[in-house]
Parts: sequence; C-alpha cells; structure tokens
Amino acid sequence: MRPAKALRQMSSSESERERDDALARRAEDLQALRQAEHDTTLAGDSREVSGEISLVGQHPADVADFTYQREMQQTTQQLLDRETAQVEAALRARERGTYGKCQECGRSIPAERLEARPEATLCVECQHRLETGRPG
Ligand SMILES: [Zn+2]
Repeated sequence: MRPAKALRQMSSSESERERDDALARRAEDLQALRQAEHDTTLAGDSREVSGEISLVGQHPADVADFTYQREMQQTTQQLLDRETAQVEAALRARERGTYGKCQECGRSIPAERLEARPEATLCVECQHRLETGRPG
C-alpha cells in the first residue's frame, strides 16, 4: 500500500544527466558507428573468403575498387578507435573532476572548443604541439 518505494527507483537524475550530456551522446554515437563498422567489416570478411577465387581473372578495376574499400574501412576504424579513446579519456577526466581543463598545461579549454569537440582534453595549443611534435 505504499507506492513511494517503486517511485523512488525511477531516479530523475539519470535522465536529466543524459539530456544535455554532449560527451555521453558522443560516446553513444561512436559506439553505434563502431558497431555499424564492425558489421560491415564482418560482411566484408566473408565476402573476401568466398570471393578469393573469383577475384582472380576479374577486371583490375574491380580489384582496385575492392582494395580501396578495404583501405577506407581500415582508415575509418582507426579514426573511430582514436575518437573512442579520446571520449573515454574525457569521461575519465570528468570523473576526476578535471574535465574542461587541458591535461597538458592545466588551462581551461574554451567553451566553444568543448562544444565543437566535447571529447577534447587538450587546449588547441597543446593539441597542435602534440600533433606536430614541435615544442611551444
Ligand atoms: Zn594546453
């Protein structure tokens, strides 16, 4: 006779947190993309095994196209892997309470940058420095 117990299980904080959480949305998007990419790769693998014999004697253009598609797939996967690692790093930073601060120099990351790239854990300067390998 006390429905309060059931109501308490539906915590409102969960949905409120998700509604405006760009980082969590990013993580979900990436997971969906990776899943889709994974499915495509699986389909491509079976095609590769069954099509191995028939590839011989095919027009070179078809083989080139096939190779190109495989390379594209690998590149996409590498990008997704990198993005995912970045999002996970940002999520960890948020758990530690350092989200929004550059992991290198400790300065605040501008809000516009976080809006464009919610997974950013470096300021533009440090990101650039790490990517180019140049100091300062
Ligand atoms: Zn920095």
